[in-house]
Amino acid sequence: MPLDFSTLRTGTREFLARRASGQGLLIGGEWAQAANGGTFATLDPATGSELGQVAKAGAADVDAAVSAARAALAVWGATVPAERARILWKVADLIEANIDDLAELETLDQGKPLFVGRWAEIPGAVSQFRFFAGQAMAIEGSTLESSINYQPAGKQMRTWTVREPVGVVAAIVPWNSPLVLTAMKLAPALAAGCTVVLKPAEDTSLTALRLGELMIEAGVPAGVINIVTGLGGETGAALAAHPGVAKIAFTGSTATGRAVLDAAKTNFKRVTLELGGKSPSIIMPDADLSQAIPGVANAIYFNGGQVCIAGSRLYVHRSVHDQVVEGVAEYAKGLKLGHGLAADTQMGPVVSLRHAERVEGFLQRARAEGATMLAGGERTGEAGTFITPTLVVDVKPGMEIVREEVFGPVLVAQAFDDVEEVIAAANDSEYGLAASVWTEGLSNAHRMSSAIKAGTVWINCHAMYDPTLAIGGVKQSGWGRDSGRQALENYLEWKTICAVV
Ligand code: NAD
Repeated sequence: MPLDFSTLRTGTREFLARRASGQGLLIGGEWAQAANGGTFATLDPATGSELGQVAKAGAADVDAAVSAARAALAVWGATVPAERARILWKVADLIEANIDDLAELETLDQGKPLFVGRWAEIPGAVSQFRFFAGQAMAIEGSTLESSINYQPAGKQMRTWTVREPVGVVAAIVPWNSPLVLTAMKLAPALAAGCTVVLKPAEDTSLTALRLGELMIEAGVPAGVINIVTGLGGETGAALAAHPGVAKIAFTGSTATGRAVLDAAKTNFKRVTLELGGKSPSIIMPDADLSQAIPGVANAIYFNGGQVCIAGSRLYVHRSVHDQVVEGVAEYAKGLKLGHGLAADTQMGPVVSLRHAERVEGFLQRARAEGATMLAGGERTGEAGTFITPTLVVDVKPGMEIVREEVFGPVLVAQAFDDVEEVIAAANDSEYGLAASVWTEGLSNAHRMSSAIKAGTVWINCHAMYDPTLAIGGVKQSGWGRDSGRQALENYLEWKTICAVV
């Protein structure tokens, strides 16, 4: 059934009327259409209904946005840290004040159940702005006792370091958790004194545009935040290659990460890359299964598996394997699929038809290679892009479904016999984003958390986040970290000053 717009919140309807008519570029504090008038449709993936038209920025628009951001560097750089902190805190307050509208908008554009945005992701965006409001006032250089052997008569040598903003940041974000991932880039960049050109993902531009409005309302000066919506290969590529950009903060797939890295070479942009994952969840024989079974199921089915740190490979000790697999299959079959705005929906559609077909392709190839689907494994629903929560067994370590990131509600389960074997299996991946270990044993918890090659290891939990905690991966899961104090470093240069005084 098509979406009934009259049932939406007033704030959502007013926003769509205001922005989703191609008026969606924010450049130098002004909202504008693309210079060439280009737009593209953004859809509700649960019904296929068009939510509106989004501006398709071309190279000229990207150029204008980067120029505006460069011009604003002097303005933003001249603000004292406490002023930047005040404005960032105000952004957080405004997100919080508009949280119900933002959650509805995110659900419409991305498909996620309302509770995911309302209670997890958008509060996460609020905390990013609050955390980095504090960090704006905690930027430190150092004084150094050097041993330089040059002391003109009557003079002394003094050496110290200061931190300076990197410059214009290109923030390029994906569609799975749009607002919180955007906040993870914008908040530290602005705290550091950088200005930003934001490129949201083409499937989910709407909450970024609403955030742009709220940032202007909060007093972020013109040009400090600019937004260019559009396609990855056009708008994103033009932004990544632009010589006026000093740093790219990218979150997305490993394949696009490579393209971004190539584009960055032209002027040696600083680059941080938050990329894909194929994260293991490991259930040891001594795990509390009453926690572990729903824990590993939620680790993959939350947000339809469209989570970079989703626990998509399940390793279960053989002694409890059948019990766990049965429990996870039951959990998967019990999940209620539906429109994200329906109160009883536990899992929404995947983000787009293109993505649903990609996930289906993985499932078909897994079947052809001999895998069995103990739950799900198919498209469902008369409209929309729903994939049933899937549990795959009868797999071998070399199979595509075990090695590649599906980025959908697809869990692959395998049995193991001993701890060394499962550590080796967990590490047998080109990715290294995250892992969880489920055990009541202190020794295994310590040993495995240090042996597993990943940016984050959770013990008896999965996907727990806080703005104080750094997020990112090793191996082909990326470079650098978002969130946490470490993220501020991405946006600061060191300057050494050496003076004879
Ligand atoms: P994607 O790589 O297709 O797109 C990400 C962004 O890059 C989008 O805004 C897109 O328009 C843009 N883009 C595409 N081609 C580009 C190019 N040539 N130059 C510049 N920009 C370009 O990723 P996606 O499908 O939107 O997101 C899913 C991926 O994101 C998954 O692999 C997931 O694991 C990853 N992800 C990682 C993290 C993390 O923190 N590590 C978090 C969330 C998602």
